[in-house]
Amino acid sequence: MQLSQFYNLPFTKSAAEYVDSLDVELLDIVYKNVYDIALNRAESRIVQALEGDIEKPLFADSQITEMEVELLSYPIARLLLSCIGDLYAIRRYALKEAKSSGEFLKGVLSKMDEGEALSFLEELAHELGVRVEHMEGGSRMSLTSYLKYASHIHEPRWKLVNREVDRGMVVVRRDEMIRLLQEAMRTKVEEGMPLSVPPEVCRRLSVRIGRIRTLLGEKKARFEQENVRGPERAYPPCIREAMRLVREGMNLPHSQRFALTSFLLTIGWGVQEVVELLASSPDFDEKMATYQVEHIAGSTGTTYTPPSCATMQTYGNCMGKDELCARVSHPLAYYRWRVKKEGRVKKEGE
Ligand code: SF4
Repeated sequence: MQLSQFYNLPFTKSAAEYVDSLDVELLDIVYKNVYDIALNRAESRIVQALEGDIEKPLFADSQITEMEVELLSYPIARLLLSCIGDLYAIRRYALKEAKSSGEFLKGVLSKMDEGEALSFLEELAHELGVRVEHMEGGSRMSLTSYLKYASHIHEPRWKLVNREVDRGMVVVRRDEMIRLLQEAMRTKVEEGMPLSVPPEVCRRLSVRIGRIRTLLGEKKARFEQENVRGPERAYPPCIREAMRLVREGMNLPHSQRFALTSFLLTIGWGVQEVVELLASSPDFDEKMATYQVEHIAGSTGTTYTPPSCATMQTYGNCMGKDELCARVSHPLAYYRWRVKKEGRVKKEGE
């Protein structure tokens, strides 16, 4: 791959080899002012990931130095996150890095003809350790890779039973290939994190680490304030677990997402609040999520009630049972019992 193609896909093998070829020592980066620009960009990558989306710049072919800074900032961002050691921050960063790279990829591919686009995707897949083949009208991914990455995407169409499998290869459309590679990118960014970083390096980066920690704390506090109606401790363990997974950027299986959504709507969350909670999912599509949440809230005339404990157990969504669970048969009963016991849950604004 050319530098102009991978500076925004910094987790590829080519990118790592290019950074190695720059022969930059870790201690130089933290001690020499000349690398401040790369440190600044590394910090902004993390800040952008925590606050929204990572903006990927576009450079002209002549701007080799700027591209190198962009490339160098990626391993430094991983270093900073490793010093911080917060799993939420690491997952969020990996998710946003992959999402922005997926967008960047779509832009790059849209400027290529079909043949170029297919060989670019093949090369990228190879760089990420994913085996793909191209054929007329689509692509095929090895069964092992498909299972590894599609298992994180919980829409029914990704299930193997709904796919065409041909001699150990799964047939995928081009947009599906991009989505699967995005998942491979997310896995790649998260791989090995947190890294083992010499304490001296973390100490040297302490001012930047402090700033990121402050932002992280504010973000977590804001999330609690804005999105939690009443004390979350009154929610049943299965729902708290589903919320934890969503906040950590995991895709929930359809049945668990339904249980979470219907439960929250029933206890008084608004549609927008639920959509905002789901926004951390890697597959989040605001239009689709709003439609689904509104549907569950009763936009078509049918209001859905959350599933009972028996149904939750059948789908493997009954998680973290505690003593009270033995006395209830429905997550709502659990919640109401706890609310009654602890006093009425304050409504937002009261
Ligand atoms: S027993 Fe019911 S309330 Fe308790 S965790 Fe399982 S599904 Fe939730």
